[in-house]
Amino acid sequence: MEQCEVLIVGGGPAGATCARVLAHWGISVLLMDRDEFPRDKPCAGWITPSVLETLRIDPAQYRKGRELQEIREFHTGVMFGRQNRYDFGTPVSYAIRRREFDHYLLLHSKSRNILGEEVRSLERTPDGWLVNDRIRARLVVGAGGHHCPVARILGAQPAREQPIAAVVAEFELDPGEQAAFPLPPGHTSLSFLDDVRGYGWLVRKGAHLNVGLGVLGGTQVRGRLDAYLEHLRRTGALPGTGPLPFKGHAYLPFRGVAGRRIVGDRALVIGDAAGLAYPESGEGILPAVESAILAAQTILCASADYRPRWLEPYAAAVAERFGGAGSAAGRMALPAPVQRLGTRLLLGTPWLTRHLVLDRWFLHREQRPLVPRALPE
Ligand SMILES: Cc1cc2nc3c(=O)[nH]c(=O)nc-3n(C[C@H](O)[C@H](O)[C@H](O)COP(=O)(O)OP(=O)(O)OC[C@H]3O[C@@H](n4cnc5c(N)ncnc54)[C@H](O)[C@@H]3O)c2cc1C
Repeated sequence: MEQCEVLIVGGGPAGATCARVLAHWGISVLLMDRDEFPRDKPCAGWITPSVLETLRIDPAQYRKGRELQEIREFHTGVMFGRQNRYDFGTPVSYAIRRREFDHYLLLHSKSRNILGEEVRSLERTPDGWLVNDRIRARLVVGAGGHHCPVARILGAQPAREQPIAAVVAEFELDPGEQAAFPLPPGHTSLSFLDDVRGYGWLVRKGAHLNVGLGVLGGTQVRGRLDAYLEHLRRTGALPGTGPLPFKGHAYLPFRGVAGRRIVGDRALVIGDAAGLAYPESGEGILPAVESAILAAQTILCASADYRPRWLEPYAAAVAERFGGAGSAAGRMALPAPVQRLGTRLLLGTPWLTRHLVLDRWFLHREQRPLVPRALPE
């Protein structure tokens, strides 16, 4: 029978970050993922500089053999309408490839990993958990994304939730297409639905193009995607006419107390398993990383007593860090004509787009990066 102190379900950004902190502080941690790495993950791969800063990733070092595309400007507007250009003059975001990024984080976690095995069963024992009938753990951390089995044990019911539904395709431009393509590396355009419940994006990362669409509440994604692709092709922003390798996935925006329970008896959940994405932008990588660090700090402070009272500080830390949820939910309750008017005003007024949509909703420029006391250099 294998044993560990903490078993982490899932090796995405949340799981790998939590494992990295715990392993560094000498906790016996075992991370399990159903996939072998490197693995693909449907994602635009857009990250804010806070992600690199919080994880203490040196851009120059990361870039060796991996894509780290600087983004200095955004092109935004209402879908099918005019786009305005917002130039920040300095890198305000990056585009990574999830296949590379997640593998990098996992390698740097220096944890013991079991890859290619799904966590199928989690049974309570007097002092913890029996996992897949063969591993004993005193605490389980759920980092398995939207459908994480630990989140289900804590009461999550994905079929009853209102997630962000998103579809994405990432593909390589051949040398001829690269030379002929009118949009330079780093080009990022955001085309908002007229009720601001979602947006389509197009990001060029070096030789790769990433195109997709996400909708809060998850309605009519395919139909909206088809119309968006047709528009991109008509305006020359998307080469070719053939089918693209689209993949879809769902995940939850942060809803505070109305959201998922994130702490239980000898169990907690982080990242998408906890439902922490920013509602306006759909950004989930930074919340995954930050929640992982907050969880690891709580675990270290719990001194091997994983009853709920010692894990509750994690829930309090998440509420403090991601508080103020509900704006998107509130907006969804507004009548459609009001939403449309608001969207056109927002995106038709450059000052509002720059300072509210980009600076606040997408770049969180007013928010200080989390200072990870427990993260190794
Ligand atoms: C189309 C799309 C585009 C997106 N674009 C962006 C973006 O540009 N920027 C951004 O910040 N966020 C984006 N997001 C959100 C972002 O991808 C997630 O928030 C982020 O991946 C959350 O990380 P995580 O570690 O919590 O979960 P994940 O990255 O989903 O990792 C979960 C891991 O758990 C494993 N797993 C699941 N179940 C089990 C099990 N039973 N046993 C073992 N292993 C299991 C999976 O194999 C997976 O490796 C996007 C999401 C979608 C769907």
